[in-house]
Amino acid sequence: MPDEVPTYDICSHCGVCCTGAFFSHVPLVKPDDRAKLEAHGYEFGDETTNEYPLPCQFQQGALCSIYHSRPHICGAYRCEVLRSADRGEMTQDEAVGHARELVRLYRDLRSRMRPDETLAEMRERVKRLRAGEEETTPEDAKLILAFYAFNIYADRHFHGAGERHVKYG
Ligand code: SF4
Ligand code: SF4
Repeated sequence: MPDEVPTYDICSHCGVCCTGAFFSHVPLVKPDDRAKLEAHGYEFGDETTNEYPLPCQFQQGALCSIYHSRPHICGAYRCEVLRSADRGEMTQDEAVGHARELVRLYRDLRSRMRPDETLAEMRERVKRLRAGEEETTPEDAKLILAFYAFNIYADRHFHGAGERHVKYG
């Protein structure tokens, strides 16, 4: 979730990159990144790790509750929608429209997951269903459709070339 204005207005309608739907973790690349998170009460299980796992416990709705002391990469990351807006190839309204649609697709996907199922567990289940390793119920079929709808939209609008994070082809 970057800190530049006015694109922050776009992120405030979105927040999907903090949920784990794009990335499994935030790389901690600056010496004080760990300390920032620990100052907010986060406890690292591994003292040597340079990764902070997603979904982020500091996300509140679409917003970051530790915005002014979030890890460096959180402020540096710019999805393709933001980059397109930066280049003047997309208006602010168009960018917000994409953010809202992504959130709608994300919520639809979440609504079709099992209670307490993580995104990583859901992805593995979709893989097994696609491989025919599990019998596919009508509810499973709806989950697979929602999974594809979210990822195709994300790949088309939010990930640049070579940035596809979820293999589903
Ligand atoms: S996915 Fe893009 S628009 Fe959405 S919160 Fe992240 S950087 Fe902002
Ligand atoms: S610290 Fe803030 S910007 Fe970074 S992942 Fe968590 S909610 Fe998102």
